[in-house]
Amino acid sequence: MRIVLLGPPGAGKGTQAKLLVEKFGIVQISTGDILRKAIAQENVLGSQVNSYVLKGELVPDSLMVDLIRERLNEKDCRNGFVLDGFPRTLEQAKALDALFKELGFSISCVVEVQAPLEEIIKRLILRWSCPNCGSVYHLENNPPKEKGICDICGLPLVQREDDKEDLIRRRYHTYQELTEPLSEYYAKKGVLIQVDGMKGISDLGNILAFRLLEREKTFKR
Ligand code: AMP
Repeated sequence: MRIVLLGPPGAGKGTQAKLLVEKFGIVQISTGDILRKAIAQENVLGSQVNSYVLKGELVPDSLMVDLIRERLNEKDCRNGFVLDGFPRTLEQAKALDALFKELGFSISCVVEVQAPLEEIIKRLILRWSCPNCGSVYHLENNPPKEKGICDICGLPLVQREDDKEDLIRRRYHTYQELTEPLSEYYAKKGVLIQVDGMKGISDLGNILAFRLLEREKTFKR
């Protein structure tokens, strides 16, 4: 399966991507995680993208397309992947089409996870995550067993620099302006599925898995 996840920040793309990885044995490619790791490592990519990510702005398309080209050429992508956070602009979507053509891939499906701004703010301002394993917690709805500590790794949790209300609003508006038009782009190609990101994590995961398998069956018939 080759799945693209669209949706505003905080809609639950990362969480659903992890469930898809478990269910279908594919790899998750989160461009946000790749960029944050590069920033933490203070490598060349990190220094190129640092100021955009910290301000909640999009990184230039050319950098992102190069990064995805390199990642999709890695061996572990051959059995399928879920793209979480790419594409985010029409230019990136067109570059992805060209890249898929080059690699002989086709998109199985594009999933748009929908969620309203006010709900997203509530979710993100109380979101903390583990810098090691990526587990995500919500201080009210899904708190860690021990305050501030990852249940799995036992390491202190961190809050993302861009999970502050003004930046969340900015990221959401950027999404509306530059990324939302992609749902029409993919709907025209007949590959779009829209789901309600307000559903519970496992309910949404089950709905998504069901709809993806249905699509695969129809496609194979
Ligand atoms: P995310 O974790 O997906 O919310 O991404 C965090 C930040 O990384 C975004 O606010 C952007 O600054 C940057 N970013 C991630 N993916 C992309 C992309 N496809 N295009 C441009 N910038 C991106």
